[in-house]
Amino acid sequence: MKPLQPELERRKAQHLYRRRRMVEGAQGPELIVDGRQMLTFCSNDYLGLANHPEVISALQRGAERYGVGSGAAHLVTGHRQAHHALEEELAAFTGRSRALLFSSGYQANLGVLGALLGRGELLCEDRLNHASLIDGGRLSRAWMRRFPHRDLVVLGELLPRSKERGGLVATDGVFSMDGDLAPLPEMARLCRERGAWLLVDDAHGLGVLGREGRGTIDHFGLGVDEVPILVGTLGKAFGTSGAFVAGSEVLIETLIQQARSYIYTTAPPPAVAEATRASLRLVQAGELRRQRLRELIALFREGAGALGLPLMPSETPIQPLLAGTSARALAWSAALERQGILVSAIRPPTVPDGSARLRVTLSAAHSRQQVERLLEALASALSMESE
Ligand SMILES: *Cc1c(COP(=O)(O)O)cnc(C)c1O
Repeated sequence: MKPLQPELERRKAQHLYRRRRMVEGAQGPELIVDGRQMLTFCSNDYLGLANHPEVISALQRGAERYGVGSGAAHLVTGHRQAHHALEEELAAFTGRSRALLFSSGYQANLGVLGALLGRGELLCEDRLNHASLIDGGRLSRAWMRRFPHRDLVVLGELLPRSKERGGLVATDGVFSMDGDLAPLPEMARLCRERGAWLLVDDAHGLGVLGREGRGTIDHFGLGVDEVPILVGTLGKAFGTSGAFVAGSEVLIETLIQQARSYIYTTAPPPAVAEATRASLRLVQAGELRRQRLRELIALFREGAGALGLPLMPSETPIQPLLAGTSARALAWSAALERQGILVSAIRPPTVPDGSARLRVTLSAAHSRQQVERLLEALASALSMESE
């Protein structure tokens, strides 16, 4: 093994060292962070449901009924009515025959890719896909080819023209660090022509886009025929924890038999499934929250545009400001922090070299005044830099 300390020092020298902050209290825009009150724009709690009273009381009632731990994996004695009911409700919500719960989105992606792909089979991934899709591809031992971000021409070159065993194309629905959308209608058409399966990981689209928050696939008017494999996570707009895969009966039965990250892990607490059932109802009835979120996104983009800030082409709650170098992203983040505002600096390897950024995320729980405060703080942070 290599010595560890020099590697830590190298990370520090390159502005890549990561630190955890200690946060007090419940999730919301205002948090006590390392002992200090801060206004935050870093969570994925897009609809403000992580601390919603109905979700909390569903969790409490769930704990009274089921206890805390599930005690075993789903295939042993861990699978409870709460899990099953949530799976049925998620299947109905996404317009699919079945859904299968996983403990996290990371595990869902490892499980699906590992179950569906054998050694040497073709897997095409967008270069900016979430790390869990990349890791899942590696673990599956598939032949992974990555295409430039949203580049359908290169994807077309990677997919064989014969329909025999056409492989699998995996993409984020909303890209987690850029906030833009995958060109799903065109990807779906290409996949159909070439006999490839399309998997969409919609961690950041569900709850936010589409009718009743059904996500990016619904936003584009597509369904299970165009996108046979949907991965959704529950720790973002749903405000709870866990993930699911939704698709056909055959797909889900295959995962139950073969997805190792489903089989060899303890079923998540049933009380969390109860909490998610409550949050699913709030997501579906959440048009006002989505409306407020859209208004805040428009307010932020107008204000940032007027200030000449380096906006990226995103219409979602993920609104990155491109800094370039890690040192610059950290300097912006530190300047905001001095003004009591927390926005995380995202650096390589999470994003490609030279594209370090501030990742601003907005939530329906933010007020207009809070977004205006952010804009003022950004104006002052960036004007200090040019002096
Ligand atoms: C957050 C995220 C995941 C991981 O989900 P967890 O439930 O947090 O493990 C997977 N895919 C994408 C695109 C994500 O943004």
